[in-house]
Amino acid sequence: MATILVTGASRGIGLELACQHAEAGDSVIATCRDPDTANALNHLSQSFDNVEVEALDVVDPLTILSLASLISKRGDKVDILYSNAGMAVAEAFGEWTADAFSATLETNVVGCAMILQGFAKVMAQGGKIVNVSSKMGSFEFMGNLAGELTSYAVSKSALNMLVRQSAPSLKSQGVLSVALSPGWVKTDMGGQEADLTVTESVEAIRKTVSELSLEDAGKFIDYTGEEIPW
Ligand code: NDP
Repeated sequence: MATILVTGASRGIGLELACQHAEAGDSVIATCRDPDTANALNHLSQSFDNVEVEALDVVDPLTILSLASLISKRGDKVDILYSNAGMAVAEAFGEWTADAFSATLETNVVGCAMILQGFAKVMAQGGKIVNVSSKMGSFEFMGNLAGELTSYAVSKSALNMLVRQSAPSLKSQGVLSVALSPGWVKTDMGGQEADLTVTESVEAIRKTVSELSLEDAGKFIDYTGEEIPW
C-alpha cells in the first residue's frame, strides 16, 4: 500500500485523486485549506479508513512544516505527492491587477516551491512528485495567443522552471519530480465545456504516474505521458 499526499483535495482534480487512490487501497493524506468546510472530502474520509484529512494552505509555510513534521514523527514516507492546489483569475490586458498577479504567483509558484522543499525530506526512496502544471505554461503551445489568463499562464511557466531547477537535487535523493498537465478538465476552474471528466483525467494521470521512472525527472508531460514542448 502506497502513501499518497494530495494538496487542494477539497474539490476538482485533487478530490478525485484522493478518491481513486482511496479506492485502490492506498493510504491517502488529503489536504485542504479548511477541513471544516470540505464536505465532499470529509464524506470520503468517513467512507474510507485509509483517508486522513489534514489542514494545509500552500501559501502558509507553517502548515506545510507542521504536516511534514507530523509525517516525519510518525516515521511515515510519502510515495506520491500531488502538488495540485492552484488558482486562476481571468483578466484581459488593460484590466490586469497587481492583486491577481500576486495571489496567483504566490499560490501557483511560491506555494509549490514551499511544498517541494517542505516535503522533500519525507519522500520515500523511489517516490514521485507530480507538480500539476498546465499546457498554458508552454511558450510553444501558447504561441501568440492572447487570453485572459495571463497571470495563470505566467505562473505555470514559472512552475515549470521550478520543476526543472529542483528535479536534479530530488533525483539525487532518489525522488522523481515532473510537471504534469491534467488536460482540460471539467472542474470549477476548467468549466463544464472542458474535454475531460475528472474521472478520465485522474485515471490517465494515475496510469502515467505508475509508469514514470527516475529517467523522467524534470520532464513536462501531459496526463497521457506525452512530453509537452516548453
Ligand atoms: P479547482 O478550482 O476545482 O480546485 C482548486 C483546488 O485548489 C481547490 O481544492 C482549492 O481549495 C485548492 N487551493 C487553492 N488555493 C489553495 C491554497 N492556497 N492552499 C491549498 N489549496 C488551495 O481546480 P482544478 O481541480 O481544476 O485544478 C487543480 C490543478 O490542476 C490546479 O493546479 C490547476 O491549475 C490545474 N489545471 C487544471 C486544469 C483544468 O482544466 N481544470 C487544466 C490545467 C491545469 P479551496 O476549495 O479551499 O478553494
